[in-house]
Amino acid sequence: MNQPVPAIETTIAGSLPKPSWLAKPQTLWAPWQLAGEQLTEGKRDAVRAALKMQEATGVDIVGDGEQSRSHFVHGFLQGIEGVDFSRMKRIGIRADRYEAECPTVTGPVRRPRPVHAEDMRFARANTTRKLKFTLPGPMTMADTVADEHYRDRAKLAFALAELLNAEARELEALGVDVIQFDEPAFNVFLDEVRDWGIAALERAAQGLQCATAVHICYGYGIKANVEWKKTLGGAWRQYEGTFPLLAKSRIRQVSLECANSHVPIELIGLLEGKDVLVGAIDVASDAVETPEQVAATLRQALKFVAPEHLYGCTNCGMAPMARPVAEAKLRALVAGAGIVRAELGVK
Ligand code: ZN
Repeated sequence: MNQPVPAIETTIAGSLPKPSWLAKPQTLWAPWQLAGEQLTEGKRDAVRAALKMQEATGVDIVGDGEQSRSHFVHGFLQGIEGVDFSRMKRIGIRADRYEAECPTVTGPVRRPRPVHAEDMRFARANTTRKLKFTLPGPMTMADTVADEHYRDRAKLAFALAELLNAEARELEALGVDVIQFDEPAFNVFLDEVRDWGIAALERAAQGLQCATAVHICYGYGIKANVEWKKTLGGAWRQYEGTFPLLAKSRIRQVSLECANSHVPIELIGLLEGKDVLVGAIDVASDAVETPEQVAATLRQALKFVAPEHLYGCTNCGMAPMARPVAEAKLRALVAGAGIVRAELGVK
């Protein structure tokens, strides 16, 4: 059978666990264990290790595992003027699902210089595989700061989207293959997604020629999220309103949570024409999937998505996991995708 290749490639949602010498393991917002030049060097070593882990396990589209950032949102914000990290405030985020220490927006946001260009250059120089770079989405960023300046979430999100777009264009010029915006807030503020969230996302991705992706999930495998999921009932339909809007957008890929979730798989049929990155690895459980379990998830997805538009992915970032567990899960992901590719007779 001749399918357009490649089919059912594998990739990761974003973060990977950091080595214990770099940051406290199995902790979100883990403080760095190094400082100064040692920290810079340590981050570089961790990126090399993350790339190597993905190459060795056979992941097709790799990332830097977000090894250089303390957190997926605050990493970018640390390079932004108007955001004061000396004024951290404990606030409820994701509609008060949990509290987090967040910096304060004290004035107009401005990006005085590139934030992640050096990280990107380094990653690009250290792998020949297709490379994905993740950035926080504007709505999720606006939800992870204490805003004392704009006092209007849409306004703040659009201001951030402009900065993200400038950053993304530079990353594209440096040779990235996919730029992904992470929008877990899209599963929380459903009306705002429709009213301005998608528009802000498209502003962030404006003019990009490389593949663009959005990752929408039910959050890292931390206790607050696991508890929240228990309240969502037997069928999680949050994607139902968002996917048709994304199908009409210019974002090319959608990364979503699927393994061990209550997301009705047929909802991915609403993403017509898009690449679908199906989460076939549960990041909220240390139980390592078997390749056959991964293959079963991908087969379900194949009923609604053509093989050339289907990717095997993790449900979410793996930052809070133990490294050996994450590595074993990536191995299972690749093996599972391999089973399905063999069944389809494609490489
Ligand atoms: Zn996620």
